[in-house]
This record gives sequence, C-alpha cells and structure tokens, in this order.
Amino acid sequence: MRPISYSRVADVATAVGVVTADPESKFLAGGTNQVDLLRIYVEQPARLVDINDLPLREIEERPDGGLRIGALARMGDVARAGPVRERYPLLAQALHLGASTQLRNMASMGGNLMQRTRCLYFRDVEVGCNKRVPGSGCSAMQGVNRGHAVLGTSDQCIATHPSDLAVALVALDAVVQIEGPDGRRELDLDEFFLEPGDTPEREHRIGHGELIVAIEVPPPPAGSRSLYLKVRDRDSYEFALASAAVAVTVESGVIAEARLALGGVATRPWRARQAERVLVGAPPSETTFAAAAQEELRPAVSHGMNDYKIELARRTIVRALSMATDGGGTA
Ligand code: SF4
Repeated sequence: MRPISYSRVADVATAVGVVTADPESKFLAGGTNQVDLLRIYVEQPARLVDINDLPLREIEERPDGGLRIGALARMGDVARAGPVRERYPLLAQALHLGASTQLRNMASMGGNLMQRTRCLYFRDVEVGCNKRVPGSGCSAMQGVNRGHAVLGTSDQCIATHPSDLAVALVALDAVVQIEGPDGRRELDLDEFFLEPGDTPEREHRIGHGELIVAIEVPPPPAGSRSLYLKVRDRDSYEFALASAAVAVTVESGVIAEARLALGGVATRPWRARQAERVLVGAPPSETTFAAAAQEELRPAVSHGMNDYKIELARRTIVRALSMATDGGGTA
C-alpha cells in the first residue's frame, strides 16, 4: 500500500500553488472517477488536494445570454437549473443521460471533462496499455474492442472518450477557463481534447497545476432546435456506443446553421465539421443527412469487433438530425 497525503484548500491560488509544487500531486473534486482509479492502482498520486471548498459552484447567466458554469457545479445541479432546461435542452439531456442520479449529485462539471477512458485494458494494471504506461503496447488492438473508437485513432491507442457532457459542450462551442501558475487563460473546448497520436497518455491541453475553474457556454444559435441522442446497450447507467449532439437552424427550407458532435465513436468528443459543411445550405432531408454522415465517417478505421460502429454512427447521425428537423429520416 502506498501512503497518500491529503489536504483541503479554500482558494484557487492555494490549490494551484500546492499542486504545482509537487509533481506527484492531483486535484480531487467529486472523486467519482479519480477514487475508482486509485482503488485499482491505475493512478497513484503521492498527494491529493481536495478542492471541494473552492467557490466554483455558481451557474450564472451572462449579459450576452450565455452561461458561465463554475467547474465544481455538480452535474445534477446544472441539469436542474432553469436556464439550462429552458434554453439548452441538448445540455440538460446529455447530463441526464450521462450518469445515474447518485453520480450526477457527486460529479463536478470540470471533473467530467477530465475523466479517463473506460477502456478495460487501461483499467487492468496487469496488461499492456500505452495510455497508462507509454510504450507498453495496446492490448485493445487485437483484443476485445467492441466499444472502441473508429475516429481519431492512432496505432498507439483506440480508446473512446467516455463523456456525454463534453460532446454536448463541444457542439455548443463552449470555452473552458483555466487557472494555472502563469495566470488565467481560456481555451475552446474543442481544442482542449487531444487525439492520441504518438502520446496517448496526454489527453488534454492542460499542464500540471492548471485547474479548470469555469465553463462558458455561448447563447444557443437563434431559432435552433437541438437534442442529444445516445445509443447504448441498455437504457440506463451505460456508456454510449454512439451518440450525437445536434443543433440545427432551418430557414426558408434549407439548413442555415448546423452544429454536430459525436460521442462513443471517437478518441475525443468529436466535432463533425465535415458533416456540418455538407448540411449547411442543403434541404433537411434523409438524403442530405446520409451524405453528411458519409462524409464525416470517410476516415473511420475499425478493428474487428467494432466494425459495426461505422454503420451505427451513420444511423445515429441521420436519426438525430431527422429528430431535430422533423425530417423523414428513418435510419
Ligand atoms: Fe490502452 Fe488506449 Fe489501447 Fe485501451 S485502446 S489498451 S487505453 S492504449
């Protein structure tokens, strides 16, 4: 057993300072992922810095009509907040579908964005995994990879990103505010997540000692209809096999604006920009949606047990877009 020192801090500057000073330290928020990983020895920090007393739980409406959500706001509180339910149904749905009630009441918004993959080999310290131990190989390539990614993969790692919330926020053009030893900075959430490439152990564009303090969500596109569609093996408490976050505006019979992001099929929350390009200016029809899906999935690569995901992703895109536009899609 390895001892862990624990401290509880009350302000952001102290939290950042303590973690920055010790390379073997980690922040601890809701703990719903972190504590799991400690128990199975996947993460073994020497020091945990509990940040639950930091004043980062506010859900504020901004003057421009957007939201600023404190990083320690609980997923359940955000899902229940009036402005979220009324103006961001896509976000409320992703939060509800993303975890059980008990987990939503504990898990923080910032922690959700930082959660690690559920690849079963990542969670088994007896087998090779390039993400857990760089250079040790990827057991999933030739192993049980039914749940693994088909987009954004590399020959080092094919693990999916597990978050539903992150997919919704990427579709909504959210921005994260990060406090670190060099001050505060902002980053588009779409740039925050990294594809594995040759460094699968690096999942986020954030340094040691840096802390997400807030998530800013711009106003939803005027006149848009949005939803989050999640396809999974069972109807509750399960990760996505495929999901789609869509926000679509139709004017004069054509799609004027389209936002589309995918979950469950990619190594990171996947903004489907190729599909968006096909959608804008076209009539909302199943033919258009299928063409958009085809374009987005052109670079998809599967590894045997997850071959079905390419077709599943296509059908999920078509169905989500059909539901958002009352189109005739039946996939
Ligand atoms: Fe590890 Fe990634 Fe391979 Fe899973 S897919 S075993 S996380 S390297």
